[in-house]
Amino acid sequence: MLAPDSSFQKNFFFLAKRFVPGETIEAAVSTVRELNAKGLTVSLDYLGEDVLDRKAAIETTGRYLEILDALRDAGADSNVSLKLTAMGLLIDEDFALENLTRIAERARQNPDPFVRVDMEGSAVTSATLRVFERAFAVHKNVGIVLQAYLKRTAGDVARAIALGARVRLCKGAYNEPPDIAYASMPQIRENFLKLARQLLMRGNYPGIATHDRRLLAAVKEIVATESIPPERFEFQMLYGCRPQVQEQLVAQGYRVRVYAPFGTHWAGYFYRRVLERRENALFALSSMFSR
Ligand SMILES: Cc1cc2nc3c(=O)[nH]c(=O)nc-3n(C[C@H](O)[C@H](O)[C@H](O)COP(=O)(O)OP(=O)(O)OC[C@H]3O[C@@H](n4cnc5c(N)ncnc54)[C@H](O)[C@@H]3O)c2cc1C
Repeated sequence: MLAPDSSFQKNFFFLAKRFVPGETIEAAVSTVRELNAKGLTVSLDYLGEDVLDRKAAIETTGRYLEILDALRDAGADSNVSLKLTAMGLLIDEDFALENLTRIAERARQNPDPFVRVDMEGSAVTSATLRVFERAFAVHKNVGIVLQAYLKRTAGDVARAIALGARVRLCKGAYNEPPDIAYASMPQIRENFLKLARQLLMRGNYPGIATHDRRLLAAVKEIVATESIPPERFEFQMLYGCRPQVQEQLVAQGYRVRVYAPFGTHWAGYFYRRVLERRENALFALSSMFSR
């Protein structure tokens, strides 16, 4: 991973700009305001992952407290998302829980007190769920992400429904081995829809996170046939991905939340977006020539 103060990071932020609205809290809050003006709610993520020293994890936790204060002061409609490996999960689960707890407690002072725990690679799935459940036992404003490509997720969805925990369902963004993850897109879509239906019918305000036209159409059909009102769930999309569709969904009466990551540690996130879609790589390349 590139260090945020490397010259690549400093000189090439323009490449990531489509997916990362800025490097500072001020830029992030101003993006939240712009999205709010279009009827979109937001979840801000302070970029960073795989932290291996306590000081860095404590600093990241402190940044989240600042972000929460800035959102509250600005009256901006946004909650926060975070990665537990940025909170020290790879160092010690109790330490990550302590940091998550500080954020969950501070978030209670905000109009939207919700804190979403992102899901990372399969090496930390079980640890992430353990820390999440320990936090959720005390702080009901904490929710989790589950990935439809993992074969274990049906069980994790059932558990989250039983707990009454809020779930964001996504396909999954990491490279996982075929013994634990569905490898073909039709299988991932099928599992996504099966789990989305369960969450929509019995879950607590699920976040349906996808840009996939087929999945969006199928989810709309489920909510129409099952008469699930639009305030019982939200669609979620990434900042910079299909912005017109985000606005169309709002115009159609759906709730839409944009996941907006910001900060200087954008390289890992940016690479995942580029690897995911050829169009994203082409967009990054075209930015190089249109400066
Ligand atoms: C809000 C949110 C939060 C997420 N959080 C996590 C997380 O915590 N952990 C994790 O592992 N992953 C996370 N992800 C990433 C997710 O797992 C997928 O990697 C990512 O969303 C790509 O899958 P997709 O279903 O959106 O569509 P894709 O599989 O990328 O695309 C499917 C189809 O959608 C259409 N499409 C998609 N993007 C575009 C575009 N830009 N322009 C035009 N058409 C497009 C195309 O028809 C395409 O064929 C998150 C995603 C979102 C939206």
